[in-house]
Amino acid sequence: MDFEDTPELAVFRSEVRDWLDANAQRRTDQLFLGMEGDQAFQEAKAWYKKKSQAGFACLTWPREYGGAGLTPLHEVIWAQEVENYKTRDAHFVIGIGNCGPAIMHFASEEAKVELLPRMASAEDVWCQLFSEPSAGSDVAGLRTRAEPDGDNWILNGQKIWTSGAQYSDYGVVLTRTDPTVSKYRGLTLFMIDMRQPGIEIRPIRQMDGGQHFNEVFFNDAVVPDAYRLGEVGGGWTGALTVLMSERLAISGIQPTGFPQFLELVKSLEINGQPIARDPIVRERLATWYSQYAGLQAANKRMITAVAKGGIAGAEASLGKLVGAVMNQEIANFACQVFGQAGIIQDDSFSPEQGHFQHSVLFSPGVRLAGGTDEVMRNILAEQVLGLPQEPRADKGMAFQDIPTGNS
Ligand SMILES: Cc1cc2nc3c(=O)[nH]c(=O)nc-3n(C[C@H](O)[C@H](O)[C@H](O)COP(=O)(O)OP(=O)(O)OC[C@H]3O[C@@H](n4cnc5c(N)ncnc54)[C@H](O)[C@@H]3O)c2cc1C
Repeated sequence: MDFEDTPELAVFRSEVRDWLDANAQRRTDQLFLGMEGDQAFQEAKAWYKKKSQAGFACLTWPREYGGAGLTPLHEVIWAQEVENYKTRDAHFVIGIGNCGPAIMHFASEEAKVELLPRMASAEDVWCQLFSEPSAGSDVAGLRTRAEPDGDNWILNGQKIWTSGAQYSDYGVVLTRTDPTVSKYRGLTLFMIDMRQPGIEIRPIRQMDGGQHFNEVFFNDAVVPDAYRLGEVGGGWTGALTVLMSERLAISGIQPTGFPQFLELVKSLEINGQPIARDPIVRERLATWYSQYAGLQAANKRMITAVAKGGIAGAEASLGKLVGAVMNQEIANFACQVFGQAGIIQDDSFSPEQGHFQHSVLFSPGVRLAGGTDEVMRNILAEQVLGLPQEPRADKGMAFQDIPTGNS
C-alpha cells in the first residue's frame, strides 16, 4: 500500500495538526498520562468534550451516533498526529474502543441514539465488567448471575480489575443467565447503569501508588431488558466483539518504550561518557530497534487490511505481545543503567521525567490487561500457525457440572 496521504487526507492531517497546536500541549516528555485522581478525570473530560465539539472524536462512527462519519484512515492520521501531544484519553478508551462497537452492533436503535452520542462526547464514561476473581483468561467461566424479573434482570456477583469503574456512568457487563448449558452458551451481555444502589465499587491500590481499577459488587443490581446486548444466551458473541475491539484499541496505543529509550541513549551521559558508546547499550538498542521496526511494519499491514475494508487480524495480538514485553524490558534495563538513581521515583529528578521508574511499576500490568502473554501466544499458535487447539477438560459439559475447588 502507498502510505503517502491522498490530497484529501493531507488536508485532514493539516487540519488535525492546526487544531492540536491550538488546543493541546506538545509532548516534551513521554510521561504516560493515566487515569489517576479526580482532577485528572475532570481535565480529561474537558479535553475530550473540546475534541468532540471540534469533530475529532469517534472519527469512524456514524454521525447520528455522535461520530464524524469518516474512514479508518482518518483515524490512523489522528493517531499518528496526536502521538506528539500530551492528551488525556485514557478514561474513554474502554468505553469508546471496547464497549462502543458492541453497542453499535447489538443494541436497539433507541438505546444507540440515547447512549452513543453521550459516550462520544465524554458526557458519559463507560467501563467493561468481564473479569472475575476466578474468571480472567477463562472469562467464559464467570459466575455473576443475571435472573429475569418482569421487564428487568437482577444481577448478583462480583467483578474485579474493572478499569475506571469509579468514574463510570455505565458499563458493559457479561453475566451467566443459564448454568445448565455449556459455559459459552449460558452467557448474556448487558449495558448497566453504574450509578445505582445495587452496585458497590471498591478501588484497588496498585504498586505504583495509583488506583486504576476496582472490585465491583452487584447486590440485586437492576438492568432493564431494553439494555440487553444480543440474545439471551448469546453473550459470548457480544463478548468476542468487545474483546476483539479491545485488542485492536490496545494495539493502537500499546506503549513499547522504544522512542523514550532512543531519546535517553541520545542524551544521557554517565561519568562524562555518553551511554551511546557503551557496547551493551548499543546491543540492546539494536535489538529493540529491530523489534520496534517489525511492529511498525506489522501495524502498517494491519492499517492496509483495515483500509481495504477488512478487519485487524493476528497482528493485533502480535503487537500486544511483543510491545508489552519490550516495554517492560526497556524500563528494567534503563533503571539498571541509572544505577542507584534508578530506584528514585521523582519526576523532577529522574531522566525523561521518571518515565522508566513509572514503567517498571506499571508495565507488568500491561502484559496482563487485554489478555496475558500466554493467551496471546495461544491465539497466535492456533489462529496463525494452525497448531492444534488446547485440550479442554470442560468441553460439552453443563457449566454447573464443571468441577470447582468447592465441589
Ligand atoms: C491494568 C489492567 C487493567 C484491566 N482492566 C480490566 C477491565 O477494565 N475489565 C475487565 O473485565 N478486566 C480487566 N483486567 C483484567 C484482565 O483482563 C485479566 O487480568 C486477564 O485477562 C488475566 O486474567 P487473570 O488476572 O484472572 O489471570 P489468570 O487468567 O488467572 O491467569 C494466571 C496465569 O495463568 C496463565 N494462563 C491462564 N490461562 C492459560 C492458558 N490457557 N494457557 C497458558 N497460560 C494460561 C496466564 O497467562 C497467567 O500467567 C485488567 C487487568 C489489568 C492488569
